[in-house]
Amino acid sequence: MKCNIVTIPGDGIGPEIVREACLVLEKTGEVFGHEFHFQPILMGGCSIDRYGVPLTDEALETAKKADAVLLGAVGGKVGNSKWYDVAPNLRPEAGLLAIRKGLGLFANLRPAYLYQELAKACPLKPELIGDGFDMIIVRELTGGLYFGERHTDVVDGVETAVDTLTYNEKEIRRIAVKAFEIAMKRRKKVTSVDKANVLDSSRLWRKVTEEVAKDYPEVELEHMLVDNCAMQLVMNPRQFDVILTENMFGDILSDEASMITGSIGMLSSASLNETKFGLYEPSHGSAPDIAGQDIANPIATILSAAMMLSYSFDLDREAQAIRDAVQKVLTEGYRTADIYQEGFTKVGCGKMGELIRDRIVK
Ligand code: NAD
Repeated sequence: MKCNIVTIPGDGIGPEIVREACLVLEKTGEVFGHEFHFQPILMGGCSIDRYGVPLTDEALETAKKADAVLLGAVGGKVGNSKWYDVAPNLRPEAGLLAIRKGLGLFANLRPAYLYQELAKACPLKPELIGDGFDMIIVRELTGGLYFGERHTDVVDGVETAVDTLTYNEKEIRRIAVKAFEIAMKRRKKVTSVDKANVLDSSRLWRKVTEEVAKDYPEVELEHMLVDNCAMQLVMNPRQFDVILTENMFGDILSDEASMITGSIGMLSSASLNETKFGLYEPSHGSAPDIAGQDIANPIATILSAAMMLSYSFDLDREAQAIRDAVQKVLTEGYRTADIYQEGFTKVGCGKMGELIRDRIVK
C-alpha cells in the first residue's frame, strides 16, 4: 500500500515527536511492505513567522489532498510568547481550528487506555482499575454549543450573554454511525452520553442514536446522563468501551478520562471526516518548557500514527504491531522523564523512538 501523509511538525516539541512517529511509520512500512510518503507543511507559530498567518491557503490545500495528516502541536508559552498578544485569528491555535474546519473533521476520537506498567501513575485506587481499562471517547467536534450563535447584550441594563446549542439529526446520525462502527471493532458496547432529562438537543440525540443502533444489532447501546458519566468514570472506568457524546460534554469527559490514564505524554487522538480521511495528533500541546532538549515523550504521537494506520488505511495488524512495540518497551522498563519512576531506565525522545521501532515485528 502507498500512503501520502502530510505532516505538521508545528512548534515546541512538535518537530521532535513527529520525527519519531514518522520513523516508526517508515519501519512499519519496511516490515509489512508499505510505502509511506511524508510531505511537511507549516502551521502555528512557525507559519506566522514565515508567512504572517497560522495556516496558509496553500498549506490547507496540500493537507486536503493527502490521505491523512499527522500533527505534532502548535503554540508558544502561554502568556509569554511572541505569538500571544495578537488578534485571536493570528494566534498559532487559530491554525488548528482552521484546519479542523477546512477538513470537515466532525469526529474526535480519544482512546483512554491504561498500560499496566503505568498503573501507579493512575490517580485511582488500584481496586478500581483492576487489570486496567481501555475505552475510547467519540466526541462530536463541529456542532453544539461551541459552534452555535452567540452574543452579549445589555438587556434592561444588565449585561447578558447568550450561547446556543443546536444539533440536527444528520449531525447526530453521522457521529453515531462512527461510534457504532468503532464499537464493532472493539467490545461492542456504546454508552451514549447526554442530558436528556433537560435538553431538547439531548432528546433528539437519544432518538437518533437509537435509530442508528438498529443497524448494529450486535452492539449493546446504553444511555447515560452526563453528570452520572462524570461520576462513573472515576468510580468504575472499566464498564466503558465506546463513549459517544456531543461536543462540550465530550470536551470535558475526554480530559477526565485521559487524566486517569496517568500521563499526558501517552495519549493519542484522531479527528475524522465522513470518509477515511483523518488528522492524527497527540492530546498534549507543544510543551515549550521542554522543547529542543530531547526529553519529550513521543509515545502519544507514535500511538496517533498507529490510529492513522487503523482508521485511515485499515492496516489493523500494523497498528497493533506499533502498540505491541510500545508495550514491550514499557515492560522492559524504559521511560521518558514524564513517566519515569525510580528503578526504571530513563531515555530521551530520540532513544524512545528508536527502542519502539526496533521492536516492530510482523
Ligand atoms: P502542554 O500540553 O504543551 O504542556 C503541559 C505540561 O505537560 C508541560 O509541563 C509539558 O512539559 C508537559 N508535556 C506535554 N507533552 C509532553 C510530552 N510529550 N512529553 C513530556 N511532557 C509533556 O500544555 P500547555 O503548556 O498548556 O500549552 C503549551 C502550548 O501548547 C500552548 O501554546 C497551547 O495553546 C498549545 N496547545 C496546543 C495543542 C495542539 O496543538 N493540539 C493542544 C494543547 C495546547
